Amino acid sequence: MDIDRRSWLVTLGVGGLTAAAGRRAAAEEAACPPADQPLLLQDFHPRSMLHVKETPVKTPRFPVIDVHTHFSFARGGRTGAAPSDAVSFTIAPKDALAVMDRKGVRAAVNLTGGFGKGHEEALAAFDRAHPGRFHTCTEPMWGACADPRYPQLQADAIERAARAGAKGLKVLKTLGLYLRERGREGPLVKVDDRRFDPMWEACAAHRLPVYIHVSDPEAFFLPIDCTNERWDELGHHPDWSFHGKDFPSHREIMEARDRVLARHPKTLFVGLHVGHDAENLPFVSESLDRFPNLTVELGARIGELGRQPRASRAFFETYQDRIFFGTDAVPPPEGESTPQQVFKDELYEIYYRFLETDDEYFDYAPAPVPPQGRWRIYGIALPDGILKKVYHENAERLLGLRA
Ligand SMILES: [Zn+2]
Repeated sequence: MDIDRRSWLVTLGVGGLTAAAGRRAAAEEAACPPADQPLLLQDFHPRSMLHVKETPVKTPRFPVIDVHTHFSFARGGRTGAAPSDAVSFTIAPKDALAVMDRKGVRAAVNLTGGFGKGHEEALAAFDRAHPGRFHTCTEPMWGACADPRYPQLQADAIERAARAGAKGLKVLKTLGLYLRERGREGPLVKVDDRRFDPMWEACAAHRLPVYIHVSDPEAFFLPIDCTNERWDELGHHPDWSFHGKDFPSHREIMEARDRVLARHPKTLFVGLHVGHDAENLPFVSESLDRFPNLTVELGARIGELGRQPRASRAFFETYQDRIFFGTDAVPPPEGESTPQQVFKDELYEIYYRFLETDDEYFDYAPAPVPPQGRWRIYGIALPDGILKKVYHENAERLLGLRA
């Protein structure tokens, strides 16, 4: 297994984009190795022999608000502390609108809008240029968190961002897994560190929801070995492995998050990626029951939800007022390295098929090999009432567009 993995990593180790292109070419050619040689995992592309109904869903049954997109990023700040407030755009607004119009997406929340001047630029380019179509959030100034004045500076920055038009605060897994006391060095800063209390409170005061992503799939905290169900994905993104070193466990991060939720009951939290634990819906349900200030979003997790369609359907029925539609979309070319979240027509069609149909055993991402784990998914055929809430009604409340 180890040898397979190494040769596989060598083949694909030159970067996600090339790797994805390489895999696609291989699958298209379906060039199987000679029958007398051992078959490597990288060469195994089984075709399903199931004869089952296929329902293409080109447009959603009701208008959609996607609360989780990345049309900009704080420069150099994706996994550590952003050195400046500069922001780069991943797509031109008109190109984003073209996809949105074709796919029935009425509005998109651009989560990673940076802070300060960069955030102002993102607001001008997206929100103000196309009113109602884009809602850009701000982000914490992680790079300043060692400054003794940080708690107040950060609270003030939230207030300024809110006045400028921010629609929320985005917290990446920078908090808990990347951010260290001295930038990239020193101990990891804890999710429930007290210096962030004024920031959470400022969000409540200015009615900004906190879109929070701390922790990650449970498999990212386990050894990358032959038992790891996300082995392919971790091969593509070795920096997503949080096994060993001084990383906290998944459970420790969730407990720290829960202490934040408990301490700031007036702050509304959107737990991205199904509350960062889509594999464990009983736990997510328990969290939703415990914390009225917690809601969840679906981004990049229909692969998890769709492999447990009965549990997922029950989850949607129970929490239908607290679930938002989101994709975690990243535009190409960058998004190509994470096919489960590449901003293009096919991605939305898969989400709609999952939520609207009872189709069986289909791909959760537009990719020849399922990118997060080697399985396929089943639709959950939500009734119209729930679909409407998840597609846009809940998000309209979140964004202050309806009472
Ligand atoms: Zn995201």
